Amino acid sequence: MPLIVQKFGGTSVADSGKILAAARKAILARQAGNQVVVVVSAMGHQTDELIALARQISDHPPAREMDMLLSTGEQVSVALMAMAIHSLGCQAVSMTGAQIGIRTDSTHTKARIHSISTERLRKALEEGQIVIAAGFQGIDEQANITTLGRGGSDTTAVALAAVLKADICEIFTDVDGIYTTDPRLLPEARKVSRISYDEMLELASLGAGVMHSRSIEFAKKFHVPIHVRSSFSDVPGSLIVAVPEAPSLPVCGATLVKNEARVTLLGVPDRPGTSLAIFSRIAARHIAVDMIVQNVGSDGRADISFTVVRDELPYTLQAVSQAAAELGAEGVTHDEEVAKVSVVGLGMATQTGVARRMFRALADANVNIQMITTSEIKISVLVSRDQGLTALRTVHRAFALHEPPPVVEAAAAPAPSNGDARAVVARLHGMEDLAISELALDESQARLTINGIPDVPGVAARVFQEIAEAGIFVDMIVQSTGRAGKANLSFTVPQAVFPQALEATRRLAEMLSCGSVTSSPRVAKLSVSGIGMRSHTDVAIRMFRALAEAGINVEMINTSEVRVNVVVDGAAGQQGLCVLEQAFADVRA
Ligand code: ASP
Ligand code: MG
Repeated sequence: MPLIVQKFGGTSVADSGKILAAARKAILARQAGNQVVVVVSAMGHQTDELIALARQISDHPPAREMDMLLSTGEQVSVALMAMAIHSLGCQAVSMTGAQIGIRTDSTHTKARIHSISTERLRKALEEGQIVIAAGFQGIDEQANITTLGRGGSDTTAVALAAVLKADICEIFTDVDGIYTTDPRLLPEARKVSRISYDEMLELASLGAGVMHSRSIEFAKKFHVPIHVRSSFSDVPGSLIVAVPEAPSLPVCGATLVKNEARVTLLGVPDRPGTSLAIFSRIAARHIAVDMIVQNVGSDGRADISFTVVRDELPYTLQAVSQAAAELGAEGVTHDEEVAKVSVVGLGMATQTGVARRMFRALADANVNIQMITTSEIKISVLVSRDQGLTALRTVHRAFALHEPPPVVEAAAAPAPSNGDARAVVARLHGMEDLAISELALDESQARLTINGIPDVPGVAARVFQEIAEAGIFVDMIVQSTGRAGKANLSFTVPQAVFPQALEATRRLAEMLSCGSVTSSPRVAKLSVSGIGMRSHTDVAIRMFRALAEAGINVEMINTSEVRVNVVVDGAAGQQGLCVLEQAFADVRA
């Protein structure tokens, strides 16, 4: 019999009427011939209220007691949901995380799932019951109640769908699907019929947070198809699966993050260990860093820029000033008035000219690009905050995201099987642990850098226009904020076309009155990709440490949700790969 997991978020069970409406959806699914597991969140803002209550008692409530308290929110809603189903004439049984057997580690308030037993669930399902499972909670080895972190019910739902090998995991929420951008920002945003796991991971981190990122990581790892849809209507929502909506299109969505701040360390010595010194200090303060951009240095010095959430700027500057003093950096600058605009799409990995199209559109809208970083499936630019919305609208239009895709290919092929249920449960042990799926070395590229680019709209567009006209495929692009109104722009191209690319770049640099052009005919790109990169922020640091200890200098860096790339000297590629193999040996998938 097919099996469905349905998850109802807080707003979908906010009062008795909504609980009854949700109960009806579960019953309909049961009557359509499915086994049904319903995962519920706490009602409305219950979790926030419980947190506020605890704060009235103590500034630092013990984490164990916080979990004891917070788990009651979901215990209330599962009981009411089971009653609602009974009142409508069907069989249902509610279960807490402990009763199901959701085992976690002991990190209270942000525990990770270790294993889930399926016996009791299966038995109830086979008896024809609708099982109502409390989201967000589990128990540790000592039977202490734990919770999975805010928004954790999504993770419970996807994890249950994984162990039960559900045919679909339906996430009922207060939005009716995934949009090409936040519809509150741009009314022309379009609901997509389908989006891939990787695209969703990138978009989730970029502020389009419809779902808990950890739950998408689970879904990808265990091939769980997700359907995000409205609890208040029956309109189909959006599927999150392996295959994108329109594989031929380069971009599936665009995002704007307004509350960013940029920090730049100027003139740090361009030698092994520099990135490690900076980012390990920041990580020690648990500050999440985004958009790291390091550009090749000139005269043995490099500039390193990155962004953080604006609220964390003061704290970040403290950490950075220590690192700057120790490294003998020439200075630290920052800018609080910035916003990040990104485009995401699986299709751009195999298409040329995507960056150029984005830069051209921004130039035509007179938006100045301060910083650029690209990954295989994402291009992000930093712009001044007051131009953020214009920039978002411009790129959304440039990629015609408001229009339905020309061809939506047939529904995704059936997900690869997870093997038998026992095997899945066995793999669950540590299923939330970091898993590195690939370490790669690309020795086919060359690097070009234009120093002293005038920091005005249109320059990046001109550069990549010219390069494209020479028929050259550009891979990694990194532009750092300049000093005194000048920026540095580095990019990599295939070695075979290096001479033409160099010539075109030199010509351009002169035409646009830039500074010098530096280059390296042979660089090595080292990449670490995997699942869990987002929730395990130490990946980049591990990478920097391994390379620093081997005396390998990092020339360019870029990071995304599923991958960290660094460019090093061409001669150091093999050795770099070797030390990364060692550094990540314990977490290879
Ligand atoms: N009730 C929990 C929270 O608000 C879990 C959830 O809603 O997913 O964080
Ligand atoms: Mg929630």
